[in-house]
Amino acid sequence: SIRGNYLDDYAIYHDSMRDELLLEQELINDMELALENREFKLYLQPQCNLATSKIVGAEALVRWQHPEKGLILPGKFIPLFEENHFILKLDNYIWEECCKFLRDWVNGGNVPVPISVNLSRIHLCDSGLYDRLIFLIEKYDISPAWIDLEIMESAYADDTGYLNQIVDRLRNYGFTILLDDFGRGYSSLSTLKDINADALKLDMRFLTEASNNKDKGRDILECVVYMAKRLHMPVLVEGVETKEQVDFLRKINCCYAQGFYYYRPMAAQAFQQLLKNKDLVEYDSYISKKLDR
Ligand code: C2E
Ligand code: MG
Ligand code: MG
Ligand code: MG
Repeated sequence: SIRGNYLDDYAIYHDSMRDELLLEQELINDMELALENREFKLYLQPQCNLATSKIVGAEALVRWQHPEKGLILPGKFIPLFEENHFILKLDNYIWEECCKFLRDWVNGGNVPVPISVNLSRIHLCDSGLYDRLIFLIEKYDISPAWIDLEIMESAYADDTGYLNQIVDRLRNYGFTILLDDFGRGYSSLSTLKDINADALKLDMRFLTEASNNKDKGRDILECVVYMAKRLHMPVLVEGVETKEQVDFLRKINCCYAQGFYYYRPMAAQAFQQLLKNKDLVEYDSYISKKLDR
């Protein structure tokens, strides 16, 4: 009967809701100890020059290697940690792992490869952000030119004045600012106008639209890349998965890409192994641009 089906659906819905809430509560209970036990792992996903396919940098992406639940992706815990502000500690930990990675790499006599780190909206509004970043840069004696800061477009929704001030201070210190997930939100153009970013990371949505809506989607993507050029901002497209996408991005003169087509996010150790193959890496694109600024 209709009623029976309704109740069954309700029961399933109810169970999965309860499971999810339970999981969330467990993750929150475990988080402090997990940080102490170093269960949060730095993963790195290479970013490539579309023209040469060589590596020009990498994005730091956190994973939680949970002793019972296995490898957990950030989508499951970042929103929880933003709500309870544990993200402040976690981000700081990931940044420190990046600084250690770079220090270690350079100590081995190698040329640094820029790493971009994600900055939570919560962190941007926290008055300790600037000091915490500078502290790490000085502690590991690295150059801010080796670290790029990814700020999500949506972080900009609430404020303008204060965020601009902090972003300008960070830029003046020497960090490169990347506007992350550009095009995902509803106010992309006004964000672009308000924020002093150095480069744009286009959301995967542009690629999906370009294959779903063919001509219209492709025209939009081409125009966005052109607009960024006019604003002297390098563009990196996220979520590149196929050869067709790469070909199209090359055709419209897009410079950088990140996605499974090139590399999946990998453990920091594996990335270091990859870098040892010097033929895969291009050292002068991003960094020299930054030094020119
Ligand atoms: P994001 O910054 O936009 O990162 C890109 C996401 O796209 C990553 O998901 C990456 O694994 C995924 N990705 C890369 N290439 C492809 C592709 O070709 N196809 C598809 N389908 N996906 C691709 P991930 O690692 O699950 O991270 C999700 C989000 O969580 C990130 O989005 C970022 O906003 C946030 N995040 C990750 N690590 C951190 C962190 O350490 N701190 C903070 N605050 N946020 C983080
Ligand atoms: Mg990002
Ligand atoms: Mg992104
Ligand atoms: Mg994205």
